Amino acid sequence: MTDALELAQALIRCPSVTPADAGAQAVLADALETLGFTVTRLKFGAIENFFAERPGTGAHLCFAGHTDVVPPGEGWRHDPFGGVVEDGVLYGRGAADMKGAIAAFAAAAARAPGHVSLLITGDEEGDAIDGTVRVLEWMEAQGKIPDFCVVGEPTSRVRLGDTIKIGRRGSLNARITIPGIQGHAAYPRLADNPVHRLVKTLSALIATPLDAGNAWFEPSSLQITSTDVGNPAANVIPGAATARLNIRFNDMHTGAGLTDWLTEIISGYAPAAELAVRISGEPFLTQPGRHTEALSAAISQVTGLMPEPNTAGGTSDARFIAGFCPVAEFGLVGASMHRTDECVPLAELAQLTEIYATLIRDFCR
Ligand SMILES: [Zn+2]
Repeated sequence: MTDALELAQALIRCPSVTPADAGAQAVLADALETLGFTVTRLKFGAIENFFAERPGTGAHLCFAGHTDVVPPGEGWRHDPFGGVVEDGVLYGRGAADMKGAIAAFAAAAARAPGHVSLLITGDEEGDAIDGTVRVLEWMEAQGKIPDFCVVGEPTSRVRLGDTIKIGRRGSLNARITIPGIQGHAAYPRLADNPVHRLVKTLSALIATPLDAGNAWFEPSSLQITSTDVGNPAANVIPGAATARLNIRFNDMHTGAGLTDWLTEIISGYAPAAELAVRISGEPFLTQPGRHTEALSAAISQVTGLMPEPNTAGGTSDARFIAGFCPVAEFGLVGASMHRTDECVPLAELAQLTEIYATLIRDFCR
C-alpha cells in the first residue's frame, strides 16, 4: 500500500487517540517495509514509536510525524475513524494533523529514490516524553542523525504551500503563590494582605513589553491566565493569593532567563512568594538557507506559491529535533485540525505527496 489516499484511510481507521496506537504504526511500518525501509520499533514506556530508514547515497532527509490524534469529541457529520471520501474530500480525525502528511511521506518515498528516513512517534499530542525525544537519543547513539528533517505538521494557512515554519516560540507556565497574614478587613494593620501584593506584582509583570520582536519572531507575550483567592467573605483579608501566567517567548529569551526575571520582579513586591515554573519548550530558529530553500523550492515548483517562513503558533516536536539538526515544518492546511469533521481535499493530499517527492529528489542527490 503506497498510495497516499489508501494509506491515509487505513491510518484514520485506527483510532489512535494518545496514548493508544490501535494498529496505526503497523499499517505504516508494513507499507514502508514493502518500499525497502528497515523499520526499528522503539517502544518507550507505553508509547509506540519507530524509526524507518532506506539507505541511499547523498544527503539524508528525515520526515518526522506522529500517528496519535486528539479525541474526536461530539458533533461529527462523518465517522471520525471511518476514512470516508465525499465529494473529493477525505474526512477523519488526523486527516490534517497529521495522518495525511504521514501517508504522503511514504507515498513520496515510493516515487523518489534517496536516503530517506521516517521518525514516527505516538506521543505528540500528549506529554511528548516517551516520543520524539527518546527516538532522537536513540538515533544519535546509532549515528543516524539526518542532514535535514521535515516535520509534517499542518503549517499551511489558507492554501497548501503558503507557509512553512522555520522556528517556534518557547512556552513557559508559572504559578505564583503569595502568602499573607489573614485578618479582619477592619483591622488591616494586624494583617498582611496578599491580594495587594499580587496585584502590584502582576501589574509590574505586564507593565513593560518583554521585547519588540525581531526579523523572524513576533514580540514575546506574557498572559496572566488566572488569579485565584477563593475568599467568600467580605470582611476577611485572605491568607494567600495565587496567579498563573503563560509566556510565549521568542529567541531573544530563554526559559531560565525568564525565570530569573520573574523571580526578581516578584521578590520586589512579595519576598515570601513561591514561584513554580514549567518550561514546556525553548524557542528555536532554523536560519533560512540551503535547507529551507530546498523545501521552499519544492513547494513553489508544485504549487506555484512561494511559502512564507513563519514562527507563530504553539510548540511542536520540531523543538526537540532542532537540538540535533536543521528542521523545518511543512504540511497540509491546518484549518480543520483538532475540530469536528477534520478533513483534507484529495487534490491537496496528492500535491503534498508531490512536494515531498520533489524535495527527496532535489535534496538527497
Ligand atoms: Zn500534529
